[in-house]
Amino acid sequence: EDADDSAALTDGIHVVVDALRTHGVENIYGVVGIPITDLARLAQKSGIRFIGFRHESDAGHAAAAAGFLTQRPGICLTVSAPGFLNGLVALANATTNCFPMVQISGSSERHLVDLQRGDYEEMDQLAAARQFCKAAYRVSRAEDIGRGLARAMRTAISGRPGGVYLDIPAAVLGEVLDAEKAAATVWPLVDPAPRQIPEATAVDRAIDLLATAERPLVVLGKGAAYAQADDAIRDFIETTGVPYVPMSMAKGLLPDDHPQSAATARSLALKRADVVMLVGARLNWLLGHGDAPQWSPDAKFIQVDIEAAEMDSNQPIAAPLVGDIGSVMDALVERSKPGQITVADQWRQELAGKSQQNVARMAKTLEAAKTAHPMKFLGALQAIRDVLAENPEAYIVNEGANALDKARNTIGMQVPRHRLDSGTWGVMGIGMGYAIAAAVETGKPVIAVEGDSAFGFSGIELETICRYNLPIVTVVLNNSGVYRGDEASTTSDPAPTLLKARHDLMIQAFGGKGYQATTPAEVETMLREALASGKPALIDAVIDPSDGTESGNIAHLNPKGISVTK
Ligand code: ADP
Repeated sequence: EDADDSAALTDGIHVVVDALRTHGVENIYGVVGIPITDLARLAQKSGIRFIGFRHESDAGHAAAAAGFLTQRPGICLTVSAPGFLNGLVALANATTNCFPMVQISGSSERHLVDLQRGDYEEMDQLAAARQFCKAAYRVSRAEDIGRGLARAMRTAISGRPGGVYLDIPAAVLGEVLDAEKAAATVWPLVDPAPRQIPEATAVDRAIDLLATAERPLVVLGKGAAYAQADDAIRDFIETTGVPYVPMSMAKGLLPDDHPQSAATARSLALKRADVVMLVGARLNWLLGHGDAPQWSPDAKFIQVDIEAAEMDSNQPIAAPLVGDIGSVMDALVERSKPGQITVADQWRQELAGKSQQNVARMAKTLEAAKTAHPMKFLGALQAIRDVLAENPEAYIVNEGANALDKARNTIGMQVPRHRLDSGTWGVMGIGMGYAIAAAVETGKPVIAVEGDSAFGFSGIELETICRYNLPIVTVVLNNSGVYRGDEASTTSDPAPTLLKARHDLMIQAFGGKGYQATTPAEVETMLREALASGKPALIDAVIDPSDGTESGNIAHLNPKGISVTK
């Protein structure tokens, strides 16, 4: 960097930063320590923003969310062994969710690690990482840093996106090399995520199948949100008139109050659809694997996905459409004749009737929750919903069990990619990391809607939020327990599901603004005030401990043996 007498020399750290800048990296999420502290310092000095976390999982989740939001791999920087392993949780989660990220980790002395001589933070990180990500690479010479990073970035972003691990041993970071030669080892990527145009015959096959459908349905998944093909998707949905249901992170791709949304008749739509077109959504557990009785046993599937091997993973796919979603949707609109795909009034009415019924039933529950005391989840959530409607640019991050299920259904989204949640694993712990990335990458306000149990996994990052003065309002839906807070204990210890805390006091320790709300009106006023301030805040929303069900909507996943309680 500095033009001194030794300007002809550089080292591995400088080459890493050079390579990151060449790839247009703007933000790094990480935790410093041996051997990467100077790397973080130099990156910062070079104009890259370094967001220093308190735990590597949170930094990794932030990098993953950055990847989802920007279509460029988020970068997570970790120290050796334990720091690396903490980050690996997020790398695996990113891979599972098809989010592009690269975890760069320092590692210890190879000649000691490989003979297991007991080095400082000794671990064979490359071997450990491999099974948890899309690919894992190690750079063994400083002259390969540029190549290693190019390979990691391209692998993360191309085809089905995912997490990539890049191991850089301390010795390589410290390796001194000729500056001019080093500069020639770094290159940018040309067309890192090329469009993938579907076969015309595959497009026509899908159109023909849709044209014969009596009860067609589109399922939009988070791959559709990731693809940033919003206009092409909307165009296809609206020109065909086919009803659709959004998966949780696809909410807002079309506004949730869109007339073709069948979200409020979801169960009926799935059960009755005869031709189902999956767009960036896998037929995994979240969609009951496509099995009856949740789906019609005669349903025929069309699947739009960039990953050819995804086809037939659960059900026979009658019309596979392998390609990027934007290109596929464009091709479907282009190649279908006007009026070829239509939707019978009867199907529309069947869904609309069911929707009305469900909405009317829900309206009573929602109305009752507005005045219930102690406050119910649905009381607090309606307040959040109303404030979000005034601030549609705000991002929603959401995790928990009941806090997730209820928020997903209560809070409508108007804008694409503004909802980030537990995702494919149903994981807890993404909250603060995702919120920080949303704020850092977009500069927009974030509302993190957190169950009190879920919040605990990443709550220490309130300190990070305050240190970087990020516009994040965390709302802890606090029913004092995992699932619920009223389980009696059979010993002198509390029940395994019980928690008790004033989370609003936590953020005050770090200089943020804490609120405690006991009514929906208080949640509304406080959230409005906190958002307007643009500063870190936390609202501890005190919820009735008896509100909530064990495991939320997925209680059936608990093993059933001999009953432990009850
Ligand atoms: P959800 O959980 O919302 O149902 P999934 O994560 O199961 O969504 O599915 C996302 C799918 O989207 C993955 O199978 C992935 O391969 C696919 N995908 C991601 N990006 C693209 C893209 N640009 N074009 C096509 N498919 C994509």
